[in-house]
Amino acid sequence: MTSERASLSAASNADALRASSSAAVDAAPWELVVVGGGPAGLAAAVAAFDSGLKRVLILERENELGGVLNQCVHNGFGLRRFKEELTGPEYAGRFIDEIKKREIAVELEATVLDVAREDGSEAPLVVRAASPTFGFRTIRAKSVVLSTGCRERTRGAIGVPGDRPSGVFTAGAAQRYVNREGEQVGRRVVILGSGDIGLIMARRLTLEGAKVLAVVELMPYSNGLTRNVVQCLQDFDIPLYLAHTVVRVEGDRRLEKVVVAKVDEKRAPIPGTEIEFDCDTLLLSVGLIPENEVARAANVEIDRRTNGPVVSQRRETSIPGVFSCGNALHVHDLVDFVSEEAEEAGRNAAEFVLGTAPAADAATPIAVRNGAYVNYVVPQRLDRDALPEQIPLFLRVSNNFANKRLVVRAGDASGPILKELRRQRVAPAEMERIVLTRDAVAGLDADEIVVSLED
Ligand SMILES: Cc1cc2nc3c(=O)[nH]c(=O)nc-3n(C[C@H](O)[C@H](O)[C@H](O)COP(=O)(O)OP(=O)(O)OC[C@H]3O[C@@H](n4cnc5c(N)ncnc54)[C@H](O)[C@@H]3O)c2cc1C
Repeated sequence: MTSERASLSAASNADALRASSSAAVDAAPWELVVVGGGPAGLAAAVAAFDSGLKRVLILERENELGGVLNQCVHNGFGLRRFKEELTGPEYAGRFIDEIKKREIAVELEATVLDVAREDGSEAPLVVRAASPTFGFRTIRAKSVVLSTGCRERTRGAIGVPGDRPSGVFTAGAAQRYVNREGEQVGRRVVILGSGDIGLIMARRLTLEGAKVLAVVELMPYSNGLTRNVVQCLQDFDIPLYLAHTVVRVEGDRRLEKVVVAKVDEKRAPIPGTEIEFDCDTLLLSVGLIPENEVARAANVEIDRRTNGPVVSQRRETSIPGVFSCGNALHVHDLVDFVSEEAEEAGRNAAEFVLGTAPAADAATPIAVRNGAYVNYVVPQRLDRDALPEQIPLFLRVSNNFANKRLVVRAGDASGPILKELRRQRVAPAEMERIVLTRDAVAGLDADEIVVSLED
């Protein structure tokens, strides 16, 4: 291990890091501090290093790198990137190996509290972190990548009525108990929400010997990837109740019963349609929210649709030198896209520090707007001077549709078409990607483009 860099030992990240001294970490400003060592943070750090930064530090609050992938023991990761079906830990392992090869500094059990900007300094970003090993620490950086992932919505967030017995878990918490702690969470299970985590847990708990009585979904369609509906429910004969919700939870100490009812078009329960399930466990898989306490504390502009930062095509937030990627930016369904986006952020952070990034654009950036049936688009702005040859836009639609076109227009919803793609089927659960070219965007008079779903 070098004096300035805490390299990872194969045996234990935490031990290697405990051996690094506080003074060494803070001796000189870092070129890049990456907040969060999940797949996004790892890919951003590697890309920044390979683009010329040598003082890169990853701060991760858990005691190992890899983020949520460490509890995803199922396969299906990396099909796009590695053309292989990997488990979550295997996918993360490939990037951790790259971190080790480059001896990129990592500090585990270090929670970042906030990031502030102090103009006039060579390293104007101040990252404040706390750790049981080092206590409170102030770290200076020339650039920061925020890759803090996302968290699950809880029972409180959706207001499920009824008693407050034990046995109600978020699906991700249950996944952690089962896959990492080796604990079974229950025997007779109802799952509310058909997002991917709920679907994957229906199969996982079945394989662990539990009886999954129902997956209940408020919307008239599943919120998970089609492949997960087939492989996790249909293959195991687990019933999916679409347009239903949980209207009551009953139990004294432990959950005893869940009452489910059909909902109308306004998603209100229809009296008389109740079904009772005798069960000891209710899993909630009712949505993910980007985790952006650090971004908010730094006064980064947040998009109320994504709950993540507003970024340019460089993944730069409203604060120069602060970048965002992965689930902290918007919730992804495939980690392959997380890695791709994070590499973009890492490369751009390196250009920012090395001074090779295009100068800050005096011209007004092009705003990217959500048009008809589009819930959100990332990036939300295009900085004109920094346009790469290919400009991918990521978006989610607002409902299930068949036979539509994704259309990008200049100006407003009646402006000229810059790009269109025909889609036989679109769904909110599946992130869409539409790639613009620099030629199509560079000479635009308009200050905005609109992405819509059209017939
Ligand atoms: C159940 C489940 C199943 C999935 N299945 C698939 C699949 O089959 N295929 C697929 O491609 N993808 C799948 N995914 C998605 C994939 O796991 C995510 O897209 C990916 O993990 C997101 O990476 P991330 O780095 O943005 O976030 P995370 O993996 O959440 O990493 C964020 C990291 O930031 C750290 N952090 C947060 N705040 C701070 C702070 N203040 N200070 C320091 N550290 C901090 C966290 O501890 C965490 O380690 C699945 C996800 C889940 C939950």
